[in-house]
Amino acid sequence: MGTSEPGTERLQRWIAGHRRVFALTGAGCSTASGIPDYRDDQGEWKRRPPVMIQAFRAEEAVYRRYWARAYAGWRRFAAAAPGAAHRAFAAWEAAGTLGRLVTQNVDGLHQRAGSRAVIDLHGRLDDVVCLGCGQRTSRADLQDVMSEANPGWRFAAVPAPDGDAEIDAAAVEAFAAPRCERCGGLLKPDVVFFGENVPVERYEAARAALADADALLVAGSSLMVYSGFRFVRQAHDAGLSIAIVNRGRTRADDLADLKVEGDVGSLMTAAIAAGGSVDEARR
Ligand SMILES: [Zn+2]
Repeated sequence: MGTSEPGTERLQRWIAGHRRVFALTGAGCSTASGIPDYRDDQGEWKRRPPVMIQAFRAEEAVYRRYWARAYAGWRRFAAAAPGAAHRAFAAWEAAGTLGRLVTQNVDGLHQRAGSRAVIDLHGRLDDVVCLGCGQRTSRADLQDVMSEANPGWRFAAVPAPDGDAEIDAAAVEAFAAPRCERCGGLLKPDVVFFGENVPVERYEAARAALADADALLVAGSSLMVYSGFRFVRQAHDAGLSIAIVNRGRTRADDLADLKVEGDVGSLMTAAIAAGGSVDEARR
């Protein structure tokens, strides 16, 4: 079905025409893996917006609700496997013309599909950091700690984005939120929360990759978050060709030289597979 999608051939030609592409990926690459998206086709919130860092730090109830939901959503999040989009990007990197992959996703699925030159712009949900002493732990280990601290805790959960889940208020009330075992500080997954900035070194690494790129491709993101959108603006200012593959509109549609609407996994799979055969035919 992929090859019959409108735009696939133009996308394939665009990919074949560049040698050091800076790719920016978002939630649309992981929805097929069972990780829901925050926004609809119009870029609007589908559900309650995510936690702001200020409230997470300052309000005990917000902190407890965050961890209760994260605890409930973890099993499904951790069980997610790479999908067609992740495999297409790994194949593209192996083909040698994908310069750098910058992802707004925090799920690590690009790496699990085999991508190596990845910058996790917004961090990784599988690492946890203490806001007091900076100690790092693995999210999987923390899940065990929370499980021991909440024997018999029951909930009815509906999966939500980023390893989150919708659960009822009474269950949240009853949940014992985790604290740092060393200093008693607040624990936070090592991801960039809303209201936080991308760490400077990480941003600079992505900027350097963009400076070295000959084109930019966006896949599966509405670019509503500025930390991703600004790379598209920089690419546009630098005169790079910009392609966007997404289901629904994006904030950068009028900056794009090519916009292909549809399923990211099938479009990228078809374009990368076709691009490889074209390259071989040329040799
Ligand atoms: Zn600590």
